Amino acid sequence: MKRLVSAKDVVAAAARHEDIYVDENTIVTAQAKDVAREKGVRITCGPKPEEHAVKEHAACEKPVADHAAVECHKVDLTSEGKGTEPALTAAELEHLIAAAFEKGIWTKDDIESLLGKKESAIDPNIVPVGVSGRHIHLSQHDLETLFGKGYELTKVKDLSQPGQFAAKECVTLAGPKGVIQKVRVLGPVRSQTQVEVLAGDTFKLGVPQEIRLSGHLEGTPGITVIGPKGTVVLPEGVMVAARHIHMSPSQAAERGFHDGQVVSLKICGERGGMLDNVIVRVTETGNLDCHIDTEEANAFHLKTGSKVQVVR
Ligand SMILES: [Zn+2]
Repeated sequence: MKRLVSAKDVVAAAARHEDIYVDENTIVTAQAKDVAREKGVRITCGPKPEEHAVKEHAACEKPVADHAAVECHKVDLTSEGKGTEPALTAAELEHLIAAAFEKGIWTKDDIESLLGKKESAIDPNIVPVGVSGRHIHLSQHDLETLFGKGYELTKVKDLSQPGQFAAKECVTLAGPKGVIQKVRVLGPVRSQTQVEVLAGDTFKLGVPQEIRLSGHLEGTPGITVIGPKGTVVLPEGVMVAARHIHMSPSQAAERGFHDGQVVSLKICGERGGMLDNVIVRVTETGNLDCHIDTEEANAFHLKTGSKVQVVR
């Protein structure tokens, strides 16, 4: 099955500081090549390093520095890889597809299906779940107050949204009624510190429960954040995260969603039920994932990777 590398894939790879590996079944769009050059992402012809033992592409191992070199492979249109001479370069094929699209010979859907990009069995309403625990996003200023001048976060795990990661660092939250330790810091740093707690945490801390979408901090309660090198007294920024579904513009178009759309989730199983007021968030760096917190997940027996059905 052919694989298409788009500009969006390159942006995602850049955010993960990864190279892109292509083979004879990969089509790299012209825009993707431009973005790769701009962002310094290497497009390498050959298997990923960890796959070497499984699949050797000895003749095709050199890094690809520019668009010409991406065409180190040729697309074989005449057979299913039975060793006949390749017929077209990837660039030629891309040109043909674009022309067929322009002339109305193929629709966008036809092209995506043929490329295997769009699985015909795909149900636009089935989305994967990502479960979030309590966590904190820090501004660089607050990070340095808590951990020391010039401090930088240490990544331990990439999250589902490109560029976002769980850091090694943890802080303590202190509210008027109680304290919660070992609250995970998520990176990268943001323009404003934001604390995302569980509904139950608000009782323990003694702060009002404000359900918000990320970034909407006006009118949220404050809290004291304690780190190994200092303390920050936040005037606002504590929220219980509103349920939301991340997606990219192309995923939204493919599935017929729009930014800000409010949907429900139908959850099957022994502890199944409905979750209402789930907000669709369409962003350039978004990747399909429905974010709920650990309380919601536990109540419905869901875990990261579970599939749920959107009801609109
Ligand atoms: Zn999210």
